[in-house]
Amino acid sequence: MSATHDVISPVDETVLATVPRADPAAVDEVVGRARAAFPGWRAIAPGERAELLRAFARAVHDDRERLAGIEVRNSGHTIANARWEAGNVRDVLHYFSAGPERLLGAQIPVPGGVDITFREPIGVVGVIVPWNFPMPIAAWGFAPALAAGNCVVLKPAELTPLTALRLAEVAHLAGIPEGVFQVLTGSGAEAGEALVRHVDVGKIVFTGSTEVGRHVLGLAAHQIKPVTCELGGKNANIVFADADLAAAAASAPGAAFDNAGQDCCARSRLLVQRPVLDRFMELLEPAVAAFRCGDPADPSVSMGPLISAAHRAGVASYLDDTVAVAYRGEAPDGPGFWFPPTVLEPGGPTARHWREEIFGPVVSVVAFDDEADALRLANEGPYGLSGSLWTRDLGRAFRMVRGWDSGTLSVNSHSSVRYWTPFGGVKQSGLGRELGPDALEAFTEVKNVFIATGE
Ligand code: NAP
Ligand code: MG
Repeated sequence: MSATHDVISPVDETVLATVPRADPAAVDEVVGRARAAFPGWRAIAPGERAELLRAFARAVHDDRERLAGIEVRNSGHTIANARWEAGNVRDVLHYFSAGPERLLGAQIPVPGGVDITFREPIGVVGVIVPWNFPMPIAAWGFAPALAAGNCVVLKPAELTPLTALRLAEVAHLAGIPEGVFQVLTGSGAEAGEALVRHVDVGKIVFTGSTEVGRHVLGLAAHQIKPVTCELGGKNANIVFADADLAAAAASAPGAAFDNAGQDCCARSRLLVQRPVLDRFMELLEPAVAAFRCGDPADPSVSMGPLISAAHRAGVASYLDDTVAVAYRGEAPDGPGFWFPPTVLEPGGPTARHWREEIFGPVVSVVAFDDEADALRLANEGPYGLSGSLWTRDLGRAFRMVRGWDSGTLSVNSHSSVRYWTPFGGVKQSGLGRELGPDALEAFTEVKNVFIATGE
């Protein structure tokens, strides 16, 4: 590894660490170690592999304050969020630790013999994650991959590698064998791309932008390499006139501004039924004022800074002179990449801020007339990741969720991610699902075996 890069804190712009920047030769070395570790890892008895994953989970639990502290500094996540994220890694490891002992095949009735299927591990799995939720998104890939008997090479985003590096140390302390779980730091264009191109990497889990996802799929196509993709979103929060407006307004800032809006599931399109639009905007204003932006280490703060100066400039570019702001919260000034929670004046569904994923604390508001109108607006555009719907009418809720082109929906809540249930997007928001009971299968190949028994 020749070069290195500095890891900068978005909270105060200090240099936190200097990490290696892997070039293709370094990627080749890491993949070679994973490849060498694979036969041993897949051969470990299922109960023993399960116990190693539980030991990894326990070690993450014991280390969670340190992991959370690293994420507060490296990513600007609030301490409450960062603790939840470390806990989520533990929970996802626990959940998939049940996998090795339940990796069942089938026995299929056929004439002339016995037919059985095996779920074989793929080999080396590359997990490429974005900077917005470094810990959980990595775990959604590496936990099921390891449980199914694969070795993992994790490539964190260049901006946020520190918790991934710590997780590799924790895995090692927990007894995960050498080469089974490795972290590779470096840029996407160099290290990420070399991982996707490597012939000894059998599968890629990619989470990031739709643009880069499209590129990764193109590269993988050359080797007919399976790719799970979790990509962008532009998600609606639909409030019907019959809803509990107070509850909908109280929760809307969290749904749009949590993690400073740097969330693929952020409900950044607020759709309000026309007769209650004014009332809803009145109820929303104090809720936005209460959503405090500030030092993420302070437990009373709701959101921290954006990830980088470049990203902040990109978010700000959506708020030109043509865009009217309804109200905004407060944000610190001085060092750090701060941006206040911002609600735009209700407008039409043509503005750039309505159509594109901003990935910052900015919410667009549009009024709608009826169910058909709400669905049409929510389904507009290339994305289909998540969304929420507020109504007291159960029939309406079911009609709406069935018509909505989205992978992950919630009614009278903003839940998107629960490790027990499948998560992922339709249209250009992704390919495949993570988490939930079926995720393990995406890290295996089905092998069919027929044994002749004679007539
Ligand atoms: P990004 O630019 O697409 O990067 C994602 C990851 O891919 C990073 O590790 C990046 O490395 C790497 N990468 C970049 N170019 C690559 C290439 N040519 N080959 C292989 N890897 C490459 O996304 P981001 O800006 O980090 O994250 C924001 C995006 O992620 C948003 O669009 C958001 O919606 C999406 N996201 C989706 C989900 C979901 O579950 N659906 C969850 C979170 C985020 P470097 O950063 O080191 O260059
Ligand atoms: Mg990027």
